[in-house]
Amino acid sequence: MAIQTTNPFNNKILKTFDEFSDEVIEQKIAKAHEAYQSWKNTDISERSKLLLKTAAIMRERKSELAALITLEMGKLIAQSEAEIEMCASVYEYFANRAADFLKDRPLEVRQGKAFVRLMPTGIVLAVEPWNYPFNQLGRLAAPNIAAGNVVMLKHASNVPQCAQMIETIFRDAGAPEGVFTNLYLSGSRVGKLAEDPRITGMSLTGSEAAGSSYAEAAGKNLKKSVLELGGSDAFIVLEDADLDLAVEKAVLGRFSNMGQACTSAKRIIVVESIAAQFLEKFKQKLTGLKVGDPMDRDTNIGPMVSMEAVQKLEKQVNDSVAAGARILIGGKRINREGAFYDFTILTDIKPEMVAYKEELFGPVASFYEVKDEAAAIALANDTTFGLGGAVFSINTERAIRVAGQMDTGMIFINKNLASQPDLPFGGTKRSGYGRELSPLGIEEFMNKKLIYIFE
Ligand code: NAP
Repeated sequence: MAIQTTNPFNNKILKTFDEFSDEVIEQKIAKAHEAYQSWKNTDISERSKLLLKTAAIMRERKSELAALITLEMGKLIAQSEAEIEMCASVYEYFANRAADFLKDRPLEVRQGKAFVRLMPTGIVLAVEPWNYPFNQLGRLAAPNIAAGNVVMLKHASNVPQCAQMIETIFRDAGAPEGVFTNLYLSGSRVGKLAEDPRITGMSLTGSEAAGSSYAEAAGKNLKKSVLELGGSDAFIVLEDADLDLAVEKAVLGRFSNMGQACTSAKRIIVVESIAAQFLEKFKQKLTGLKVGDPMDRDTNIGPMVSMEAVQKLEKQVNDSVAAGARILIGGKRINREGAFYDFTILTDIKPEMVAYKEELFGPVASFYEVKDEAAAIALANDTTFGLGGAVFSINTERAIRVAGQMDTGMIFINKNLASQPDLPFGGTKRSGYGRELSPLGIEEFMNKKLIYIFE
């Protein structure tokens, strides 16, 4: 994939970047390794100071950074600004909490004394996707830099200016050279870096195919990996739900970021006694929306990330319709320049259909009506993915019981799922393994070293 900025609003290629040669990559790894030798020994307060400065710069330059996100991947400008705010809060969270999270952990032992100390390990290589170009990286970079590791980024090839900007921000915040490094290289070359002994941790956020090949390279070289992959999250609405709240959150959960989030509410599952009512309200909220330039604050429906993404989604929807699914609204490209696809509700979906089996990474809500709670849980679990989900009921105990039966890494009750710094983020099944954010996120690439004192 060429490393270039293509504006999805008009499909114009704006800027192209050369991949780094093997020689340049070797120089950058050497620099990062050298930086690690001193960074791991700095006081945590110094590392926290860097993260706070990074966050402050992001907030100061919010307009510029948000515009860059919108230019490269088409996100509505207000959502791009919200991403910058969220990302800054991730840096602040780890700046303020890392010292606590990294405290020695005493163990109860029969004789003597023992504790576990979390020690950094080296260079963490982060492969990141384009859908939240600042925040996805922030979730990995903040805890690791706080903990004394250094980070190298291989970003998605369609957000090269965001990638370079992240390096600039770290530099402007005072990071020593090598503490954070951007690498321009294609996905096909990145697995090879697993062979380098200076790289000790490997994280990837993206598709199953990329995750599987990256983890294979990590495993072959006995490297720890964390994978944050795709999802087909269920959004369950039980008959005792606050209907208006559920509808409002379903719209947000499914259509924010043009539906291009791993934890989008991709499958809306509603029990039959309220299904018709829910669907009517849901449909109403999705009509009369303004299509247009994502830089324009009045726009509700902007472009998807690229024409390739539109074509893929279009085929998934068309194949499902050919097999008997029904389009309630949308279901087609919007007839204008740019990577536009209409907000869509798909119903009458059956297990053999593409829409049932695959992740729909765009603005298409798959709507399912089920008999009761048990049927909702069974349908929610009938997927190879296990990332997140949501349950709506005014009976919290009941919702917690339902949440307990769903095979996922995360469940929100009475809210659409979204990431926040103090909550662990990650999945199970084919959605990957490992966690980002929260106290758990800082542990992934640390050596949990035992120290035993014989007495
Ligand atoms: P993708 O094609 O897998 O790309 C993600 C990253 O992986 C990019 O940097 C890409 O580089 C790189 N890559 C591609 N092939 C690779 C390989 N063989 N080895 C190593 N790296 C490789 O993903 P996408 O389609 O752009 O992103 C959407 C997917 O990401 C969806 O499935 C979504 O659910 C998932 N996602 C998951 C999370 C989560 O936290 N669980 C968050 C966001 C997105 P190039 O751009 O150079 O190809």
